[in-house]
Amino acid sequence: MKKLILIFFLPLITLGQINDFDMSYNKKLTKQEKEVIINKGTEHPFSGEYNDFYEEGTYNCKACDQELYKSNFKFKSNCGWPSFDDEIEGATIKTEDNSFGMRRIEICCSNCNGHLGHLFYGENYTTTNTRHCVNSISLNFKPK
Ligand SMILES: [Zn+2]
Repeated sequence: MKKLILIFFLPLITLGQINDFDMSYNKKLTKQEKEVIINKGTEHPFSGEYNDFYEEGTYNCKACDQELYKSNFKFKSNCGWPSFDDEIEGATIKTEDNSFGMRRIEICCSNCNGHLGHLFYGENYTTTNTRHCVNSISLNFKPK
């Protein structure tokens, strides 16, 4: 696992784009946060602090503070995790994830590559027909 983490962080450090969180990134996250953000885990459904939360503001990346979602993108999906039907332009990186025998699209923060959750299309929840299913623990809410 240590090797994996090194492979993950070395490009970020050598790129030099990331300033104060590069080395402290790993240190400042709690064990539970690392489990989701670095090890791509999933918090239990209906357990996250933003699952049933509808204040006005912005949701930032827990690890690097990049702005990811506006509160008006959030909608009630009753899936057990915060759901957003759009993102702040360029905020996430999408990659195919075939783990657990499922074909899903993984979403990560475009600045630090921290794991956020998964992206689903075609569920007809809202007009964008898109659901960013995000772990609360990957987010930090900033009130307006
Ligand atoms: Zn980030």
